[in-house]
Order: sequence, then structure tokens, then C-alpha cells
Amino acid sequence: MIFDPSSKLQDYLVFGEFGDVNPSITDSSTFTFMTPEKMKEVFDHEIEGCFLYSRHWNPINKDLARALSFIEDSEAAQVTASGMAAISSTVLQICQSGDEIVSSRTVYGGTYALFKNVLPRFGIKVHFVNMQDMNAIKKVISAKTKILYTESMSNPLLEVADLPELAKLANANSLKLVVDNTFSPMTISPIRLGAHVVVHSLTKFINGTSDCVAGCICSSSEFIHQLTDINSGTCMLMGPVLDSYRAASILKNLHSLHIRIQKHGVNALYLAENLEKLGIKIFYPGLKSHPQHALLKKIMNATYGFGGMLAIDAATEENANKLMQMMQEEKVGYLAVSLGYFKTLFSAPGSSTSSEIPLEEQQEMGLSKGLVRMSVGLDNDIHRSYDRIKNCLEKLKLIK
Ligand code: PLP
Repeated sequence: MIFDPSSKLQDYLVFGEFGDVNPSITDSSTFTFMTPEKMKEVFDHEIEGCFLYSRHWNPINKDLARALSFIEDSEAAQVTASGMAAISSTVLQICQSGDEIVSSRTVYGGTYALFKNVLPRFGIKVHFVNMQDMNAIKKVISAKTKILYTESMSNPLLEVADLPELAKLANANSLKLVVDNTFSPMTISPIRLGAHVVVHSLTKFINGTSDCVAGCICSSSEFIHQLTDINSGTCMLMGPVLDSYRAASILKNLHSLHIRIQKHGVNALYLAENLEKLGIKIFYPGLKSHPQHALLKKIMNATYGFGGMLAIDAATEENANKLMQMMQEEKVGYLAVSLGYFKTLFSAPGSSTSSEIPLEEQQEMGLSKGLVRMSVGLDNDIHRSYDRIKNCLEKLKLIK
């Protein structure tokens, strides 16, 4: 059956207090009760429509979480103050001291640093492996392993994870398959492919306007209840609550995500195909030359394209820096980290977002110092943007 991640959202109507077309923003940290007995009841177990304290839940955060669960086709969801909060709350909910995680080695640099430098302080060991190599994964799984962690489309090399195969492996070993779907919302639906938990940095495509930092966790109702448990939930007790004003603005942007993702994908494919023809090395999963192109076609949702991220290998750090500077001067976009903005953003992951990954590991995974990662924007005239990039490449003698 073809799944359309925007379908349920289309029918999702939440009114504000006075019939407002947008839900009301909760401007309160705490909520009153008519009786002490009712308050105790809510303390003891969650009651639909009753709220206790905004760090636990508040109405607009619930509205946003529900909308995100529709997109990811999960039973439930929780929103957090950042993508990193979603990741850290998830792993600390599942793992305790003595447990282990098997993680892809090509993950966002912040995730890599959390796994490598912070989790060991709590007695949690992380094995970094090539997620394309099932035998390498099997070798490090032990009775201590609790999580198989991957990005559906990896940062910054855009490797596509074989989620159905990873889910089989996770189920066979009673592990939770946790997938960061930040790069490919709507394009890939990890829960439908067998993932147990999906995390997002909402900061990126889902919000789309680079004006806030936020995250979410989509999973079973049971896991979301564990996260929000008053006495043992990491989302309750470590306090990664999303501000309700932000939840309201993200929810509004979410309703245009399907259009934005399609346009990001059309623009990125156009640039990737035409830049590749110039003879420069391009990483884009929509290209036939990409090693996981066939896999992506098999697992992706129809009509949402191959995503808005691509990478150009400019061979050296010096070239990469010059190219980015020139592209900014030519108004192709901004030299900035992050992604999913309506303007094109570019950065060199080797010296920015992936710099936490040791040099020898960067080399082993094929992360060249000359790599320029581009989050392709919503440009109406992408041909003009292409001409400008081509001019920059010519000036730098990176193409003939
Ligand atoms: N996951 C991925 C793939 C990312 O690219 C990022 C940030 O760049 C994060 C998670 C962290 O998200 P946030 O910056 O919202 O904490």
C-alpha cells in the first residue's frame, strides 16, 4: 500500500479556544484543578484533556506531537527543545550503565560527540560501525546491546540505511532500532519500515524557517508514556521541554512541509544531475551513481523526491572554502551550518558539523576535507542558481 505521510495531517483540524483556526497557545506553566482529588488522579495517570504542569505536557505541545505522529505514522510522539534533547532523552530512557549501543559511524557530529564523549561517563559504551556492512554490525552485537542507531539518510555523506534489514536484525536480537530521520521527513517513513523510535531535529526541514531549535521523538504509546512518566521519564525529569510559543509556530509550518519537501527535492535533483554532468563528484541519493539509489527507490514514499541535501567534493579544504565564499558572494545562498531552510545553505562538514569525528575516521568513511554539503533551498529559478554555481566552479578551475 502506498503511504502518504501528509494524508492524516490534511484532516487534522484543531481549533483554538474561540474557534480560532490555529490552536490556542498555552501561556501557562501550570494548570488549576477544581478539586485536590482530580489533581491526584492526574498525578497518578495521564487523563486525556487534563494538564498538570507544562514540563510534563501542555495542550499546544500535544497538538504538535500528534501532528508529528501522523507524519511518521507512529502511535504517539513527544516534542523536545532540540534534536539533541530528543536523541539524549531517547538513549538515556532505553539504556543504563553497562548497556551498549551499536551506532552508524556516519552520524551528525553532535550525536557522535554525545555517544563518544558523554555516554561513556554514564557507563554506556557505543560501537561505531559502517551501517552498510551487516556483518560488521552483527560482530559487535552482544547481550549488552540495547540500541541499533542510525540516520535514515546520513549526515553528511547521504548514505541511505537499509531500514527493513536493520529492523530484522534489531528484532532478532531484541534491540530497539532508533532512527534519526532529520534529513528525510516524508521521503522515508522509518516506523513503517520497522524502526521502533524515530527522532528528528525539527530545527531543520520540518520547521523550515531556521528561526528556532526543536526536536521530537515518535514511537509507540508505551515508549512515549515511559518518556513522560512523572517518576522515571527522561523527558519529564531531564527537562527538555519545548516552549509553547515555538510549538505553535512549528505546527503552522508543518502544514506546508509536503510542498516544501517536494520543491527541495526537485531543486536538489536538478542541481545534482547537472553538476554531475560537468564532471564534478556529487553525492546525491537521487543520482543513479549513488550507491544506495536503488535501495532508496525501494523504501521511499512516492512523490516526495530524493530529498534536499547534496554534497559536492571540491577535493581540498582550500577549494571548499573558496567555493563557499564565492557562492555566498554570488547569492547562491548562505555559508552556514544547518539545513532545511528556504534559502540554500552550505558548509564544509569536515571542518564544521563533523569536526568532532577524528580525522582518520573521517578519511576511512570517505568524508573528504573538500566536501561541501548543500541544503538546497526553495529557489523558484533553480536554473539561475545552477548557472551561478557553475560559474564559481569554472573560476576555481574545478571544471573545464
Ligand atoms: N540530527 C541531525 C541529523 C542533525 O543534522 C542535527 C543538527 O544539525 C541534529 C540531529 C541535532 O539537532 P538540534 O540542533 O536541533 O539539536
